[in-house]
Amino acid sequence: MDKLGGPQISLQDTTAVKCEKCGGEIFESGMILREVSALMTGTGQPGIIPIPVFICSKCGHVNSQFIPQELRDNGIVEAQL
Ligand SMILES: [Zn+2]
Repeated sequence: MDKLGGPQISLQDTTAVKCEKCGGEIFESGMILREVSALMTGTGQPGIIPIPVFICSKCGHVNSQFIPQELRDNGIVEAQL
């Protein structure tokens, strides 16, 4: 686990991702689920699109960098958190 996928990156060259709210550095993985109407999937069945995000394990906040731009712009996600 000392290498990240890709070319030789030393962990010393990385910076910590911190929670925007509490500064915590431990995150849990979570999912934002987006429902797609049957009209859009083309299968006649509604679909679910999972978007992986990381949740601060201390305060439950999701940094905006993990949320796709379109959802941020709508303010949808922020309202639900
Ligand atoms: Zn936090």
